[in-house]
Amino acid sequence: MSIPFFYEALPMRVSFGAGYRSKLADEVNKLGLKRVLVLATGFQTDLAQEISDSLGDLSVGVYAKAEMHVPIETARDAQRFATEAGADGCIAVGGGSTTGLGKAIALEYGTPIIALPTTYAGSEMTPVWGLTADGVKKTGKDPRVLPTSVIYDPELTLSLPVGMSVTSGFNAIAHAVEALYAPDGSPIISLMAEEGIRALITALPNIVDDPQNIEHRSDALYGAWLCGATLGATTMSLHHKLCHTLGGAFNLPHAETHTVVLPYALAYNAPAVPAAVEALRRATGAADPAAYLRELSLELGAPASLRELGLTEENVETAVDLATRNPYANPREITGDSIRRLLTAALNGDPVTF
Ligand code: NAD
Repeated sequence: MSIPFFYEALPMRVSFGAGYRSKLADEVNKLGLKRVLVLATGFQTDLAQEISDSLGDLSVGVYAKAEMHVPIETARDAQRFATEAGADGCIAVGGGSTTGLGKAIALEYGTPIIALPTTYAGSEMTPVWGLTADGVKKTGKDPRVLPTSVIYDPELTLSLPVGMSVTSGFNAIAHAVEALYAPDGSPIISLMAEEGIRALITALPNIVDDPQNIEHRSDALYGAWLCGATLGATTMSLHHKLCHTLGGAFNLPHAETHTVVLPYALAYNAPAVPAAVEALRRATGAADPAAYLRELSLELGAPASLRELGLTEENVETAVDLATRNPYANPREITGDSIRRLLTAALNGDPVTF
């Protein structure tokens, strides 16, 4: 290995297995927690209640008001609820929105999180928090918000609708793609990224064919874990910056936006990152990984363009301005003109070429 690198392992415990939510009470006890609050979205209230019931006296109840992008009002309300209930930790049962709410509470009080992910978004693997106030999403890194323990139970993903499974899977793949060319990448992260992508591109078509198959769900969640870990360990570039801008400024849906933008962002960066492209060729078996990811997403029924997600031509100029305002690490130079071409192609769902 001739390339210098730096790698810092993130401290957390991961348990992975079908039915492993039954180990949650043991995990709560291991961490010395006595009064945990179970968090969820309103949509997943029943699951949260089931989890809370399984904990008996260890649970102080359910707070099921998590929302996308963690509105500051929800965070404040949940913080108050947790204080009044005397919670000494949170159980986040759900996707990135629910984990994000747990992080908002952890940021304020330092309370540990045990995450039970039900999507492939990967927030459970990162020390990154996000809070939205007045339409602007602020993010930051803080080791206190990294979940202490993560229980991956693929049975919890059986209910994830097929369309969401596909886009959430592509959201995970996007983390790994950018980790492969991250400024703070390392050999272990590249191995995880390559394996995570391989697992997901194998699992997603199988899930589309047979969504209730626990083997396929396990394969996808395994891939999501690896991709999430690469997200937690590295700094993301152009792709994530664009998706963050589009989500924040135009309220575009998170996973779907990642799915549409990824092939374009990858095609743009590809000429500058030959080693990453080689890794992606190994993972996908395709000579042109960007075109392959685009075709796969369409075959699996994902949205084909940003226009379908609600973006307009007029929005593109604003997005170009926002996405080029602050400099950030990217392997290929970013100009207003290149971002405009990229976003216009993604807006229209044009063929992926740069
Ligand atoms: P989500 O958590 O918003 O979930 C979307 C909807 O799907 C919700 O209604 C949820 O209840 C439902 N759902 C989740 N799992 C389900 C299941 N198994 N069955 C049925 N319904 C289910 O979506 P997401 O894509 O997981 O998370 C997106 C959010 O997470 C965004 O705000 C994004 O910014 C954030 N995120 C943060 C990080 C980070 O590191 N901080 C990483 C990834 C995503």
